[in-house]
Amino acid sequence: MPTARTRVVRESERGVYDRETVNQILDEAFLCHVGFSVDGQPFVIPTSYGRDGDNLYIHGSAASRMLRQLKDGIQVCVTVTLLDGLVLARSIFNHSMNYRSVVILGKAALVDNPAEKLTALRVLSEHIIPQRWEDVRQPNERELKATSVLRLPIEEFSAKVRIGPPIDDAEDYSFPTWAGVVPLEMKVGEPISDPKLEPGRAVPEYVHSYTRTA
Ligand SMILES: Cc1cc2nc3c(=O)[nH]c(=O)nc-3n(C[C@H](O)[C@H](O)[C@H](O)COP(=O)(O)OP(=O)(O)OC[C@H]3O[C@@H](n4cnc5c(N)ncnc54)[C@H](O)[C@@H]3O)c2cc1C
Repeated sequence: MPTARTRVVRESERGVYDRETVNQILDEAFLCHVGFSVDGQPFVIPTSYGRDGDNLYIHGSAASRMLRQLKDGIQVCVTVTLLDGLVLARSIFNHSMNYRSVVILGKAALVDNPAEKLTALRVLSEHIIPQRWEDVRQPNERELKATSVLRLPIEEFSAKVRIGPPIDDAEDYSFPTWAGVVPLEMKVGEPISDPKLEPGRAVPEYVHSYTRTA
């Protein structure tokens, strides 16, 4: 059930609070926006994440302001959005978008246990591009030291989902214009090999078959 802070107010029928739906959205996306306030100034920083069970991991330079502030245990609001389409109604007022989005509220904690830190970095990597971690050099001590990892428990959350055609006012259905949905999706392009790649090095299968859709 939502808390008082996570209950969707407008178009409340689009609010979804089950963990399975939230996890599906979190697993299809890998970019989030982390909102936090410092001295009364809100900052909303885009970054990548990985999910492991009921925890969300974010990482970055140990010098990053976001990670320095967050590790001191301030409140954060993390949002994730998958945009599925433009919804073109007969009136400009009723235009909308089809989407699946998640909001998570809570406090992030610094992951200082070396084993959990390494696991979290692997989770992040596997979340974004499965099988890459095993195919490349693992982080060394210096790189691990330069990287901070934060863990945010996925405890207080909500999702909001809009699907389907436009919803027009009854009198507008006869208005002479096109109405419907323009689907949008993240498209994977043809991989571009690094010009410095040694000759004959093939594109791995996990790169060729990369997709974000569930
Ligand atoms: C791609 C996209 C485009 C949008 N465009 C618009 C727009 O142009 N104008 C507009 O007013 N709204 C837009 N929304 C919807 C917007 O995100 C809010 O849902 C909306 O502002 C109504 O918020 P509220 O007043 O009901 O809730 P608030 O009081 O703002 O929020 C209460 C709680 O509801 C939950 N919640 C609210 N919105 C979401 C959400 N999207 N996903 C998950 N949980 C949520 C959160 O837990 C939040 O703490 C868009 C959403 C998406 C994903």
